[in-house]
Amino acid sequence: MKKEIPGTLFLLLLCILLLTAAALPAAAQIRLPCAPSFRSLPEVHGQSRKSLTTLNSNPLLLDYDVKFYKLDVEADDQSDHIQGNVTILARVRNNPLSEFVVELYDGLVVDRVLVNGQEMPFSHAGNEISIPLSSPLGTDEMLEAQIFYGGKTGGGMVNEIDEYWDIPVTSTLSEPFYAKDWFPCKENLGDKADSVHVFITTDYGLMAASNGILTGTTYFPNGKVRYEWKSRYPIDFYLISIAVADYIEYDIEAHPAGLSSPILIQNFLYDRPGCLETCRELINVTVPIMELYCDLFGPYPFREEKYGHYMWPWGGGMEHQTMTGMGTFEFSYVAHELGHSWFGDYVTCATWQDIWINEGFATFAGYLATENLAPEYAAGERTYRFESAMREPDGSVYVPAGEADNDSRLFNFSLSYNKGMALLYMIRFELQDDGLFFRTLRDYVARYAGNVATGMDFRQVLEETSGMDFSGFFDQWYFGAGYPIYAIDWEQQDQTLMLTSTQTTSSAITTLFRMPMEYRLFYPGGDTTVRVYQSANVKTYTFDIPHAVDSIQIDPDDHVLNGIAGLKGNTRSKSGAEMVSVYPNPNDGHLSFRLIGEAGADKVKERSEDPSEVRSGNPSEVRSGNPSEVRSGNPSEVRSGNPSEVRSADPSEFPSGEQRADLIVEVFNGLGQRVYVRRFGGCVPWSSYSIELGDLARGICFVRFSYGDRTEIKKIIVE
Ligand SMILES: [Zn+2]
Repeated sequence: MKKEIPGTLFLLLLCILLLTAAALPAAAQIRLPCAPSFRSLPEVHGQSRKSLTTLNSNPLLLDYDVKFYKLDVEADDQSDHIQGNVTILARVRNNPLSEFVVELYDGLVVDRVLVNGQEMPFSHAGNEISIPLSSPLGTDEMLEAQIFYGGKTGGGMVNEIDEYWDIPVTSTLSEPFYAKDWFPCKENLGDKADSVHVFITTDYGLMAASNGILTGTTYFPNGKVRYEWKSRYPIDFYLISIAVADYIEYDIEAHPAGLSSPILIQNFLYDRPGCLETCRELINVTVPIMELYCDLFGPYPFREEKYGHYMWPWGGGMEHQTMTGMGTFEFSYVAHELGHSWFGDYVTCATWQDIWINEGFATFAGYLATENLAPEYAAGERTYRFESAMREPDGSVYVPAGEADNDSRLFNFSLSYNKGMALLYMIRFELQDDGLFFRTLRDYVARYAGNVATGMDFRQVLEETSGMDFSGFFDQWYFGAGYPIYAIDWEQQDQTLMLTSTQTTSSAITTLFRMPMEYRLFYPGGDTTVRVYQSANVKTYTFDIPHAVDSIQIDPDDHVLNGIAGLKGNTRSKSGAEMVSVYPNPNDGHLSFRLIGEAGADKVKERSEDPSEVRSGNPSEVRSGNPSEVRSGNPSEVRSGNPSEVRSADPSEFPSGEQRADLIVEVFNGLGQRVYVRRFGGCVPWSSYSIELGDLARGICFVRFSYGDRTEIKKIIVE
């Protein structure tokens, strides 16, 4: 008999949670012009533009560091053609460098190449330009290459009409590896240029948006005008952008606390009737979001220059450094894209496999904007994102090596964005200290400022700042797949409440999530929340409770991504009173049920006659032995709801034969007509089974479960 290890189990009174909430940074709530929408991807990426190029892994690209790009190009709002030259200043990393390679889409034509002012022969094939050097360069020697080129660009730059505003726009979208579609560059995340100049010449009447500060506008007698943008902050290749259209400029300022001068928020909007009026109020929300983020994450990284938006014909946004492309100014999009200034732009993912560093963090930043500025929407956003994450029950946040060049996998909304957000939310839950959590974020931003980071780099900062070990967390949640699914069984005798939590998982890849978990115990006149640490698939905990508990809620505040989110609110009455749980409820015609299993409770009751065993907390004594046996075989089979697969497990593995029986499910619509009936053979307690009603029923329905000589009726709402 083992004793529960002291410290792994403790009571947390509700007031402690309230104290934690009180420690949140104070932010004034705002009134949103309209309810935020979280139900779509905030962004567009290269794939949606059908780029013609792919990830280049030529090792010669690693032989130098890019220090500076100067783009001096001509474009208009009528075509996807570009013309001009790009200067690249580079420092040699590996000597001797005898061949300088830079990437450029084959569809563009290179006219000539100068190296240190001298015209050089070159070849252009395989989406790269290769320039043999007349004399090899040694380590740390500098090289300046100027490439004159032009023609029709690849998918990274397009000319489109914004149908809603009836306006043509030429704009670039280079993430993840489509910058070479429109300018010569090196597409390596780890090699940020120290600064960039982007000069765009276009027609009178048009404006051109880009990164940094608009330092000058030069008018030429031939009807052309040149916009001269300069940025002195490190920048990754895919964050360099241009956009050309008939814009007007709308500027506002943010005044973050502790900053002597305001931050310019420069917006290039379509010069169309009603556009400014439509967008103004939505754009103005950028100000409180900027001020909040500075408070939470540290000063705005590009405060010496600006933040900005320009409109483009795409529904979503893209976080081009200091100048975000925006389809609409929906609150959650504005918040997500601005979050990228810290997470994605200032600190950039070191590899595409670590896209969490960009998208998970920016999604979490957007959630924090909701939580602080429009808190009435926070729970809804969290529920939505968690449910989205669970739609990929076998997916990992870390992108597998074989998928690093698959941009639809990189920007998977459920995994990279929403499960990525959930990871940060759960790290915050594990820390139980918002002061420490936000200090960790600020430490991390400061350490990787202007640089790149991996998920493991973040973990290191987290562990250093907190003094805690997060290796298990990252194995489970970052590299692992899926999420835990909890079922509980509980019983109270006098002041002792015993709760057994059985954790299965959605994916065979990760079979256990060692996690804290909260349960809320309701009793007449009040409730209390307990926090436990689940270190095995089956764990039994005991609590001293001086009240008669009548129901228990699992993860009451949605802190953990888990498979019973749909059970929330379905409180379970005292042992034996309820046979089946149904979830989610309401549902869309696809629902699941779980046999809670009175037989198991009886077994516990028998055992509990020996108090020493009940209190032991050793699952093997309370339940069926090896925790893995309680799980009904392959979790993916359980999820499928195919009873025949569940039945394949050996009955002897379950606590007693009486726990397996046929269960008949009948669904009756609001008129009392039976619209569905099915027999689930050999049902196993705690396993999940699916019911597909499809269009058979809508509104309030009743489900009758018949199991042995017992029946139970549940009311459900089908939306
Ligand atoms: Zn994003």
